[in-house]
Amino acid sequence: MKDFKSLGLAEPLLSALEQANYVAPTPIQSQAIPLILEGSDLFGIAQTGTGKTAAFALPILHRLAANRHAPPRRGCRALVLAPTRELAAQIADNFRIYGRGLGFRVATICGGASPRPQRQMLERGIDVLVATPGRLLDHTSSQAATLARTEILVLDEADQMLDLGFLPALRRIVAQLPDRRQTLLFSATMPDAINKLAATFLHQPQRVAVAAVGATADRVIQRVIHVGGGEKRSLLASLCVTSEPSRTLVFTRTKRGADKVAKHLEGCGLRVAAIHGNKSQGQRERALDAFRNAQIDVLVATDIAARGIDIDAVEHVINYELPDVPEAYVHRVGRTARAGASGRATSLCDMSERKQLRDIERLTGQKIPAETHDRTTALAQASKPMPQRHARPPDRADDACADEGPRHRKPSRRPASASAAKAPAKSTGKGHWWERSAAVRAPRPSTFDRNRRRPAKAGSPRATA
Ligand code: AMP
Repeated sequence: MKDFKSLGLAEPLLSALEQANYVAPTPIQSQAIPLILEGSDLFGIAQTGTGKTAAFALPILHRLAANRHAPPRRGCRALVLAPTRELAAQIADNFRIYGRGLGFRVATICGGASPRPQRQMLERGIDVLVATPGRLLDHTSSQAATLARTEILVLDEADQMLDLGFLPALRRIVAQLPDRRQTLLFSATMPDAINKLAATFLHQPQRVAVAAVGATADRVIQRVIHVGGGEKRSLLASLCVTSEPSRTLVFTRTKRGADKVAKHLEGCGLRVAAIHGNKSQGQRERALDAFRNAQIDVLVATDIAARGIDIDAVEHVINYELPDVPEAYVHRVGRTARAGASGRATSLCDMSERKQLRDIERLTGQKIPAETHDRTTALAQASKPMPQRHARPPDRADDACADEGPRHRKPSRRPASASAAKAPAKSTGKGHWWERSAAVRAPRPSTFDRNRRRPAKAGSPRATA
């Protein structure tokens, strides 16, 4: 096992890593860092949770520091594109943590926030700019940003960006970048569209891959509860109450559904907030902070909004509705048991969702232990008074702020996602958390192939992962 020093990283980075308590590089970091330091383009297949943010942030900071000069006015030296605002914010936080001894200017440019301060920030030039594609294009169109002197481009969670319909925006952004640049593309999955994107945007890329697609962490205790029509709400409320005092993340399929569920749980005395694409950036951030700081017990989220979430100690994920796209299940369940912790995932499945359940089990190659909801017990539980835990969540008012991406989105086709700033390493002496949690169980090849979902080709990164 290599250490960070042997990867050739500069001293200020090593001391930032020591402060963050990172003991050793994760597999994606050991593989990717030397290649990026050499200046190669890189095509990385890695899910969030593998340490992929540091895998690109550390060598980028090293390279910027090795060739230090002022960033171009209205431009940046390194540009990282991410699919969601939350993810962009977390990536920027990671850059700040790792680069704390280097004095670089790191900024985010995302929708949902006022463009004016962003223009002012751009005016002075930025060393590392983390942006969502739509808002960045607004700034380039109005000449507030110019990308012509960008040295390094990162496309993070590229498969999500495609799912969200960002391909035209990506093309327009890349067309404004200089040909001579280093490009790094990270994706959790490798559908054909990603291969094509890599072939267009990358120049003779090196390939690295870790972990398998369609894998759920071993330490997540999963179960599915079969429920009859109309029973979900009362069951959810009693599950949330019995989850106490743990942090519970509830997934719904739609924004309206998220609001309804949040309202119901609030009426049951729980401290709740909802995040989805109709919430403003400020509302989302306040809700996430409140969840992180245990000021609320339950966060109700849609898949899109939950992508950027990296919160330690989510102990219970509840799928109030099963996702239409089975990979989203893996992603949702991956919100718990992060960085070495353990967690529970409960899915409520009614008759109309049996097909989704079969698809999930086929993708993950696991049969999820099933229980049948006993209505009598539930009614008894639901009639018990629930603890009245305080007041309003941070933000219940809807606002009309549009999400960053285009209106008509396909649902995500990717598994566990989202990245993060923060948590120091978890080294317990029993092996590293990523080894335990890589923890990932690959789908059975036969079912996987039968399902015809991105079969791994011999010699492909995923096949060699
Ligand atoms: P990511 O895959 O970038 O979302 O990272 C997942 C989590 O792992 C983040 O909370 C990181 O802070 C943490 N992390 C990344 N690299 C390491 C490492 N080498 N040792 C310990 N923790 C790490």
